[in-house]
Amino acid sequence: SQRKIEGEQVSPGEFSPGLLDLHSLDTELLPEIPVPGLYDGSSLYHSVRGRSFDDSEPYLPTSKQIGRARGLPENNLLKSFAADKEKASSVAKIKVVVRKRPLNKKELAKNEEDIIETLANSVTVHETKLKVDLTEYLEKHEFFFDAVLNEEVSNDEVYRETVEPIVPIIFQRTKATCFAYGQTGSGKTFTMKPLPLKASRDILRLMHHTYRNQGFQLFVSFFEIYGGKLFDLLNDRKKLCMREDGKQQVCIVGLQEYRVSDVEMIKELIEKGNATRSTGTTGANEESSRSHAILQLAIKRSVDGSESKPARVVGKLSFIDLAGSERGADTTDNDRQTRMEGAEINKSLLALKECIRALDNDQGHIPFRGSKLTEVLRDSFVGDSRTVMISCISPNAGSCEHTLNTLRYADRVKSLSKGNNSKK
Ligand code: ADP
Ligand code: MG
Repeated sequence: SQRKIEGEQVSPGEFSPGLLDLHSLDTELLPEIPVPGLYDGSSLYHSVRGRSFDDSEPYLPTSKQIGRARGLPENNLLKSFAADKEKASSVAKIKVVVRKRPLNKKELAKNEEDIIETLANSVTVHETKLKVDLTEYLEKHEFFFDAVLNEEVSNDEVYRETVEPIVPIIFQRTKATCFAYGQTGSGKTFTMKPLPLKASRDILRLMHHTYRNQGFQLFVSFFEIYGGKLFDLLNDRKKLCMREDGKQQVCIVGLQEYRVSDVEMIKELIEKGNATRSTGTTGANEESSRSHAILQLAIKRSVDGSESKPARVVGKLSFIDLAGSERGADTTDNDRQTRMEGAEINKSLLALKECIRALDNDQGHIPFRGSKLTEVLRDSFVGDSRTVMISCISPNAGSCEHTLNTLRYADRVKSLSKGNNSKK
């Protein structure tokens, strides 16, 4: 049967971004009616069983009908897949979100004040300052972001706001990265830890339903960058090397990548990696605040969708629990090692900001080479990419300085695109 597709040519068997792959549909299950390639009524139409049709035909099947045609129950993901193509372009290239944690027991015991006021899109820091005559006054600093999540927002809601919208588009050759930035103790790990598992759950659901029998495979790897060196968190902290091939593709030599097919398996791997991270060389949490932890979910597919052929990366989703932002200031520490690590962290956080800004400006040149972190992430910055920055802040007065630094950093990440260069 001949297929007529307006706007986008798809050869048989080829994975087509955003289109329901009709080749994989069991047409016997389909009703004797044409099925649009997209369920959203756009002008892309397929013909099924040799019939073609156009805008003049008013029929648009519901997700339920399509689900039934495919022998599936009605499913929200199917429904949401309907508009994936449009979503891909509607998911912002860069999204900056702030998350405020609640006051902890220690802070409450010290009667520390919560100086952070939040609204849906803005956060205000109430800084106490001293006049020359030593009387106190309040200075307000207001910042605007794509979303501000207050201390009552759950990890589920964080997922919905940040990563969930990106999941479907990584099947469409998109690389996406989600960062947690902030001072030590601000909630980076608390925020990042649950995200990969939630994302995997949704990815596997898409693989097993919407993209069923299309040869997609999910892989996970987990490593950290500590003092400019790479360590495999899924292989006893084995030291890894990074190489660049002739095509300037970055490759981490020896990095263990696990193929995962169910949620339990990925859960175990994530837990293993987290345990390896926090029990680093000297054991203390201190260590993890000086390292960037990078968990990557890669979606691969063999050329013809068959299991036997080598699979190539289609899309990638990276979760990065950055080193404590205050560590970049360790450059005056007495200990040489600590100074060096501080300098590396400082360099990587600056380079990261510049890379994201370059992305947003569609600058041809992206300054990857600034640091190990950005070099490793290079392939996630080229091509169709998405970045979500979650800036974590502590609410207490004692963290005011760090909080302002975090918000200024987050503000700079976006400032150019928004024409928002106001002085803070
Ligand atoms: P970081 O990784 O930035 O150093 P953590 O994620 O370890 O910070 O958080 C520090 C402490 O605060 C942890 O005990 C964590 O459980 C708690 N915490 C962080 N964010 C929240 C939150 N939103 N709600 C409740 N507790 C939180
Ligand atoms: Mg942490």
